[in-house]
Amino acid sequence: MRPLQMVDTGTQYLKIKEEVDAAVISVMESSQFIGGKVVNDFASNLAQYNGSKHVIPCANGTDALQIAMMALGLKPGDEVITPSFTYIATVEVAALLGIKPVFVEVDKHTFCINPSAVEKAITRKTKAIVPVHLYGHAADMEAIMTISQKHNLYVIEDNAQAIGNVYTFSDGTNKKTGGIGHIGCTSFYPSKNLGAFGDGGAIFTDDDSLALQLRMIASHGQQKRYYHDVVGCNSRLDAIQAAILDIKLRHLDEYIEARRSAADFYDRSFADSPHIEIPFRANNNTHVFHQYTLILHNVNRDELSAYLSSKGIPSMIYYPVPAHKQKMFDHLGGSDFNLPITDWLTERVISLPIHTELDREQQQFIVDHVLTFINKTFQ
Ligand SMILES: *Cc1c(COP(=O)(O)O)cnc(C)c1O
Repeated sequence: MRPLQMVDTGTQYLKIKEEVDAAVISVMESSQFIGGKVVNDFASNLAQYNGSKHVIPCANGTDALQIAMMALGLKPGDEVITPSFTYIATVEVAALLGIKPVFVEVDKHTFCINPSAVEKAITRKTKAIVPVHLYGHAADMEAIMTISQKHNLYVIEDNAQAIGNVYTFSDGTNKKTGGIGHIGCTSFYPSKNLGAFGDGGAIFTDDDSLALQLRMIASHGQQKRYYHDVVGCNSRLDAIQAAILDIKLRHLDEYIEARRSAADFYDRSFADSPHIEIPFRANNNTHVFHQYTLILHNVNRDELSAYLSSKGIPSMIYYPVPAHKQKMFDHLGGSDFNLPITDWLTERVISLPIHTELDREQQQFIVDHVLTFINKTFQ
């Protein structure tokens, strides 16, 4: 059996090696490392894939979120409503810009922001809602868009974990996540579902004037070279990464299928254990399983994880400390937020290996050892 990893980008690379190597060499031969046709082609292919009018490539997913908040004109003192149960980048960029992150609860089943908690947290200072499609499951975007229209707020989707998820509205129309809010942000960090061989990110929007702002801000505030209209930053996707991503984009739907099928196998294997809650899948979106995350009931998580590790099975806790309890938010009164569901989930979730290269033998091995541990606990 091949060794187990949380994500196996090495084996995935071998399957597209010839194509990728040729594309990388061609960029090197062209000497067009920054911007140019390869980057523009990838951006337009990605826009088409996502059903979005504009894609603005940038250096990473964190920058994408920061540039989004800058382009919307969010200022110190403004508030954005976000989940606390997320990767830190989502809220860190708000804090960096002097914007106050207002943490609200997630839904106990989807792990995503709870729309009624959002509505209760709206104040006169609220400017935007930042839902995160955590682990690859979409937030309740229909409810969030309705709230945003009612209160005249922007929606920035953190789509770093859910690229390719198809969301169906109650009228039957479909949109890909990241293309629903005013702005969508994604990351091409190597372990993400569409992962580069280094860092990368992108911003999605259908709005022409926002697209112009986003593009300017990502490029030192300039539209015309050396004429800087607004304060921006320097955030670029390089051509080598774009060339690789363009190839991987063609395989993205098949990669998602592989993840979903691995998730199906885990689901079937764990369905009968009362101590393991398998990931919830709302029927209005196609979970893309960036992570396969279980909720453990009355199981000692540290012991399970140590047992798995002793068998060569990695597992991870995403995330061991919710954002509101991170030291960086002490000065904002982070611990004043009372988020019992977030705390409850933080103590009980565990993620198992899931990726495009996981085979049945490996998966069966993982399942057997998880169940062996659980059965030993409860015999
Ligand atoms: C990965 C990730 C980011 C940040 O992406 P980087 O490319 O690492 O900067 C932001 N939000 C979420 C939810 C993520 O998973």
